[in-house]
Amino acid sequence: MSKGTKVPGYMQGKGSRNPRGIIGDREIRYKCSLQNTILDVLRGRPGWQEVPGQNNVQQNVQTNAKQQGFQSIPPITRNSDGDWDFYWCDREWLAQNYDTMFLYEHQKILHFRNHYELTRKNLMVKNLKRLKKQTEREQGKAEGLSFEFFPTTYELPSEYHIFVEEFKKNPGIIWIMKPAARAQGRGIFLFRRLKDITDWKKGEYQPLSDPNREVPETYVVQRYIENPYLIGGRKFDVRVYVLVVSYNPLKVWLYRSGFARFSNTRFSLDSIEDTYVHLTNVAVQKNAPDYDPDKGCKWSTQQLRKYLAAKHGVEAVKKAFKGIDNIIIKSLQSVQKIIINDKHCFEMYGYDVLFDSDLKPWLIEINASPSLTASGKEDYDLKFGLLNDLLNVLDLENRLTGKEKRIGGWDLLWEDGPILADDGNMECTPNGTTASIPNSFLGCHNDRKRQLRELYTAAQSIKKS
Ligand code: ADP
Repeated sequence: MSKGTKVPGYMQGKGSRNPRGIIGDREIRYKCSLQNTILDVLRGRPGWQEVPGQNNVQQNVQTNAKQQGFQSIPPITRNSDGDWDFYWCDREWLAQNYDTMFLYEHQKILHFRNHYELTRKNLMVKNLKRLKKQTEREQGKAEGLSFEFFPTTYELPSEYHIFVEEFKKNPGIIWIMKPAARAQGRGIFLFRRLKDITDWKKGEYQPLSDPNREVPETYVVQRYIENPYLIGGRKFDVRVYVLVVSYNPLKVWLYRSGFARFSNTRFSLDSIEDTYVHLTNVAVQKNAPDYDPDKGCKWSTQQLRKYLAAKHGVEAVKKAFKGIDNIIIKSLQSVQKIIINDKHCFEMYGYDVLFDSDLKPWLIEINASPSLTASGKEDYDLKFGLLNDLLNVLDLENRLTGKEKRIGGWDLLWEDGPILADDGNMECTPNGTTASIPNSFLGCHNDRKRQLRELYTAAQSIKKS
């Protein structure tokens, strides 16, 4: 299909008549490379139609070329061919196809090309350190303090010598080693003595000419948070969902619901080798001998917020959750100039945040493919609503006005600057004038269905008038 060919049903209106590149009177065609909740959501969405076959666009182009008897297969320069409007693809597919892909105005695809700038542990820290330094230079040291939300971290092997200096300055503290590009707790260990990482270092000093030289995997070594906030004696971290629909200008939505993931075993610093105590990943915890699959190890973010408010007061909790907003915005700003912005791309990040015993939130990591597989009924309902609302925000159906600050459970946190809330929410917003209340409602009541009903009715009447 050539660049100028009209996609059936796609309204290629000009300028103000169709500024957002919407789909007209036909069904919306989607592809999905996952077999979990997202596929259920897409299949259940009225007017959406699955394009058969997965991850096979490139293959089809080659097969067609062969069938048509080309002597040699021409290089592929057009991958999309307009056969889908929405593609929930995996990162590998995007990496292989993005550079040769042509997309029509209206097409939407998951992931930005170089999402790893934020989601690889070493790159995330590198980008944060850079923006922190720049902020200190331009706005002073005090402003730089707003970046004190990620633990001291070094990349290994490249920063090994700086790490050793830091290690010697802080005798007795615990460090955590994490492979930069792995997930689900794999390859992670804690240590107190330098000697514990010598095995890992072995490959580094073998001569380059040695054919058996093992190239050491890139790790980050990070100060371990030794005083996590405990509930019932157990450590937890919080999964926060963040949707970026544009990096330039930066436009960010924050989902109200999420969950806290608890470790199954009581916290103690006596047994630093016990991953069931120290790693809160579900993938790790579900293998614990006394793990109860019915009970799981999760609390909703609403449950967590209520618990903390009852214990420490509403204001202390607001302050702690405001710290999470700061983490989200600063981390995204740290890659804003690096991410290849593309109006077709969006990203749903899963942030992992850990509270310490002073209720200070720490950024642990950011995932570009947060798990969408449900661990139980409640988890399924959360993810189903989350993803449905994500599609509501993207609004391929063009039912909204584009000016909304809340869509279902997503609240607009940032659009080239902070967004302020229209209405106060006693439970979640600070006292004071509404003008100063940020549009941030993490862990607040999520009455998404009612809100959507009202929103669509209001949008319809605005559009009519
Ligand atoms: P992965 O990508 O393998 O999940 P994470 O960086 O998320 O790696 O770490 C896994 C878990 O280890 C986290 O969920 C958290 O419970 C724990 N953890 C990681 N880094 C730290 C840290 N600096 N201090 C305390 N706990 C940590």
